[in-house]
Amino acid sequence: MNAQPMRARAEIDLAAYRSNIRALRARAPRSELMAVVKADAYGHGMLPCARAAREAGATWLGTATPEEALALRAAGDTGRVLCWLWTPGGPWREAVEADLDVSVSGLWALREAVAAARACGRTARVQLKIDTGLGRSGCQPHDWPELTTAARAAEAEGVIAVTGVWSHFACADEPGHPSIAAQQSVYREALAGAERAGLRPEVRHIANSAALLTLPESHYDLVRAGIATYGVSPSPEVGHPADFGLRGVMTLAARLAGVKRVPGGHGVSYGHRYTTPAETTLALVPVGYADGIPRHASGSGPVLVGGKWRTVAGRVAMDQFVVDLNGDHAEAGEEVVLFGPGDGGEPTAEDWAHAAGTIGYEIVTRIGARVPRVHRADGPA
Ligand SMILES: *Cc1c(COP(=O)(O)O)cnc(C)c1O
Repeated sequence: MNAQPMRARAEIDLAAYRSNIRALRARAPRSELMAVVKADAYGHGMLPCARAAREAGATWLGTATPEEALALRAAGDTGRVLCWLWTPGGPWREAVEADLDVSVSGLWALREAVAAARACGRTARVQLKIDTGLGRSGCQPHDWPELTTAARAAEAEGVIAVTGVWSHFACADEPGHPSIAAQQSVYREALAGAERAGLRPEVRHIANSAALLTLPESHYDLVRAGIATYGVSPSPEVGHPADFGLRGVMTLAARLAGVKRVPGGHGVSYGHRYTTPAETTLALVPVGYADGIPRHASGSGPVLVGGKWRTVAGRVAMDQFVVDLNGDHAEAGEEVVLFGPGDGGEPTAEDWAHAAGTIGYEIVTRIGARVPRVHRADGPA
């Protein structure tokens, strides 16, 4: 693909991504699937993933910001797209003109959507969000009658169409958490309230990946799947991706920048947090925290080198880290794998999350712009 071998690359297996989307659709057979492609598709590259998601039957795409959704339109996507992270003065008019579905959590946002629709003489597609307990965005149940009534009035004028009523879970990745049932109950009441206000939304949705995988009664008309489409588990409690027929989409590989023998007692990397216990071989891996390798994985992050798992020795630096090969031989230029789907014996994003004390979401999403994404579209479509 590239004439010159790369220092590092994130290989994106679009065949696995499509296959994951099909597997997830099969788990929610009566619902449509929204592929969530915010944050550059969790670091996997938004536009190639969006195209692949459509090919695999995602009738909806979801983004956080309106700018992300507008970028999908600019790239030619014409399907349904919901974006939910709005601030006052946002690109409401552009969103209405681009036929995006926009999320509204309060009266100020409804007013901006209505004003934008009037200004361009079109009907804004609005999805009302209820805070069922996450405590983030969403309308408080106390304010729901006022919001739904105002939305219905604007709908009756033809200025907006209320296309959805939706919410988001706080603890779906901890199956059995009491907040899950509590949120579902608030959600059912919000749906009933919207109906009393005269609204007939096209889609009701509350399920993220974890709820899609573990809570069928939460599927409603639409499921919003992010992390699971990338073949990464929402949490250890939910299970391993393979348990659900999902496969890791991103493989992060690098080529060794050097290998050398050093004596015992040699300090390694900033702060000398590692000292070689005996004469050994050190290999230099040319990616660091500027590339998204968590510094919290210093002394713990796993790497497959020559068929064996090795551990980051000492601190992860901005551009590089070291692994101790325990005296084994390796060559500069040799490929090492930080994480991938795991079936070649390599660590997974979940392994890095465990090593860094974080979640798989953060591992894949934070891979830096300096790491080229190489999209492989081959394999069974
Ligand atoms: C990111 C996000 C999702 C996707 O969540 P996953 O856990 O990655 O499936 C769904 N809904 C909203 C509102 C989100 O912000």
